[in-house]
Formats: sequence, C-alpha cells, structure tokens
Amino acid sequence: MAGTAEQERLLVLMPTTRDAERTVAGLSAADFHCVVCSDLVELCSEIKRGAGAALLTEEAILHDPDQCLSTVLRNEPPWSNFPLIVLTHPGHKAGHLPAAQKLNVTLVERPVRFVTLRSVVDAALRHRKYQYEIRDTLLELTRARHELELANQDLEQRVRERTQKLQETISELEAFSYSVSHDLRAPLRSMEGYAAALMEDQGDKLDAAGKSFLSKISASAARLDLLVQDVLAYSRVAKGEIHLQDVNLSTLMHEAVETYPQFRQKGSITIQEPLPIVQAHPAYLMQCISNLLGNALKFARPGVSPVVVIRAEEEPDTENVKVWFEDNGIGIAPEHFQQIFQIFGRVHSSNHFEGTGIGLAIVRKAVERMGGALGVTSELGKGSRFWLSLKKASASLEANSPGR
Ligand code: ADP
Repeated sequence: MAGTAEQERLLVLMPTTRDAERTVAGLSAADFHCVVCSDLVELCSEIKRGAGAALLTEEAILHDPDQCLSTVLRNEPPWSNFPLIVLTHPGHKAGHLPAAQKLNVTLVERPVRFVTLRSVVDAALRHRKYQYEIRDTLLELTRARHELELANQDLEQRVRERTQKLQETISELEAFSYSVSHDLRAPLRSMEGYAAALMEDQGDKLDAAGKSFLSKISASAARLDLLVQDVLAYSRVAKGEIHLQDVNLSTLMHEAVETYPQFRQKGSITIQEPLPIVQAHPAYLMQCISNLLGNALKFARPGVSPVVVIRAEEEPDTENVKVWFEDNGIGIAPEHFQQIFQIFGRVHSSNHFEGTGIGLAIVRKAVERMGGALGVTSELGKGSRFWLSLKKASASLEANSPGR
C-alpha cells in the first residue's frame, strides 16, 4: 500500500557525524532504509510522517529540554507503540532516560557488535510492521462498520416505507371489506323476507319441488347472511378502536353461557374457579369466548355428548395468564394447527359441521389486538385444548367468584 517505504524507514540520530555515517553505512549495506536526522525536532517530525523505528544515542535524548520526543510518542494513536533503540554507555540505568518511561525502548549498551545491532533493528522494524498491519485492519473494520451502519439505515428506512404502504393497503382493504359486507346485508335481508312472504302468501300454490326450491333460497340467504356477519365481525375486530381495561373473566364467562342458552343445551360446561381479572377489551373478549365455546360444543364426536372445561392458570415468569377451553370432541390433526386460524381455514366439511371458517380468525385478530396470544393442542378423536394468553390486571391475583 502507499506509504510502505516511509513506514520501513529507520531514523538515525547520533550527535557525532562519524558515528552516524559508520552505522548508517553498515545498516544500509544490510538493506535497511536509513534516514539520518540532525536533531530531535527533525526526528520527531519524521516519526509523525511515519517510520519503522528510531536508532539514537543516549546523549541525544538527554538533551530534550522541551520533552519533544516523549510528547510525540505519548500522543500516538492506540494501535501504535513506536520502537526506539537507544545506544547507552556501560552501566547506564534505564530510569535516567526521561523518554524511556513506559515507552517501547530497547537499550543497547555500547560498544555494540554490528550483528547485535542488526538483529535489534530488524526485530524493531518487524514489530512496527505488525503495528501498521493492525492499523490497516482497524481502518478496514471501521470502514466496514460504517458501510454496515449505512446499509442498516437504508434497510430500516425501506422496511419503514414498506410497512407503512402495507398498513395503508391493509386499512384500505379492511375498509373496503367492511363497506362491501355492510352493503350486502340489506339485499340479503330482502331476499330472506320475500322468500318468507312468498312461502306464507303463495305457498299453497306451489308444489313440493317449488317449496323445496324456496326453502333452499331461504337457507342460502341465511347462510350468506351468517358469512357476511362474520366478515363484518372480523373487520370490526381488525379496525375498531381498542382500549384495554380490567375485565373480570369469571363474570364474562358466566355472562357468555347465560347470553347464549343454546350452549348449555348442547353439552356440559364447567367453569373452574378461580378465574383472574385480565387486561382486555370486553366486547372482543366476549367474542373470543363465544367463538371458542361454540366450537368446543359444535365439533363433537358422533354419539358423545360434549363436555367442556374452562380453566385458567398463571404462566410462570410472565405477567400473563392462560385461559384453557378443553373439549372431548373430534380433535384436530397437528398438521392443521396453523390452517385453522386463517380465514376460511376449515378442516372439517360443512356437510357435517356448519360454519363459516372465520370464527378462529376473529379470535386470533382480537387476541393479537389485545396484546395476547392464542394456540391449540389436540389429538384426533380425543378432543382439543384451545388457549388464550392474556395480560393479568395488576389486581388480578386474588380469586374471583361469579358475580363478584
Ligand atoms: P367454523 O367453526 O365456522 O368452521 P372456525 O374458524 O371457528 O370456523 O374454525 C376453523 C376450523 O377449525 C373448523 O372448521 C374446524 O375444522 C376446526 N376447529 C375449530 N375448533 C375446533 C374444535 N374445538 N375441535 C375440532 N376442530 C375445531
């Protein structure tokens, strides 16, 4: 790389020209690139330019009233530890050299054999070369980190932009599906109404086939209305405003069972107390409970009366509580665990179990919006255990009894 020659230079500072010339001649002949400096000031400015090492006599350092050398060496960058080779007098003590303290100094006692000097210089230059390699690696690392940061910022920006676009598209789609579903209900109700009126007023003029067609029209309109209602419920949960508040799960659970008497008629429901107070949106939570409870009673095994148990347990090391809906129904194969939470993710045929395939998608969306989670464990032919994980209200640790 550029500047390599400078970094290999051996700076030489010796007060007597004869000594300097002799040493430099020997070292140059051994292929060292020597640069003779006239005084400490010049030596310091050459060190700043970049050099491999400095060879100097003890006397040269002792006369450094401005501490120029130690100042330069102490202000080196962190990767640098510039090597100084100092030729001393016999019996010299290192502490006498002001510049020697805590610096990279090799003391060589005079008279020095050339072979010794050569190996000391060689070692110092090699040491310095490693330092430059470290500097280059650090520079590359810094550059790479900088590039990575830029790439990261760019990526974050793109993710932000795409997320925003996606959110806009989702909102538009939700608004669209809400208004379409909403507008679909009026003509549907007309169809149902006119079909009922036709049956009532003109029914005696129709033969069996005519009556059957009419009741099929009514049933299809009713089914479509159910579908539209579910799509509307999904849209409401997806885009409605949400404010979480403390909700007494026990009260809500009993309310659900009382509000929908058909639940009790279909099977046995046990609500195991205590149930906690959770942070939730009451209407959304009620929707979740009625959908899960409805499914638990609906997907029953032929000839087996549905038994549903609802209970709650604290999740260890979290602020959450898990609410379980356990049934003894037909169960779900593990490969369908994900599919059933998608819109229209029905696994069982509508000939056997009526439904729209939107119920669990509504539960998933509602739970997500309440900051919770939803899951299932199940075994085919044995039953299913659906769970909701919700945040406990701060005062929810106490037990609650119905109607409290
Ligand atoms: P729907 O009940 O209208 O079919 P859901 O979205 O509520 O739609 O459920 C999706 C599918 O998940 C159901 O069609 C059924 O195949 C399966 N499922 C849901 N709950 C149960 C359950 N408790 N036991 C067995 N299968 C279930």
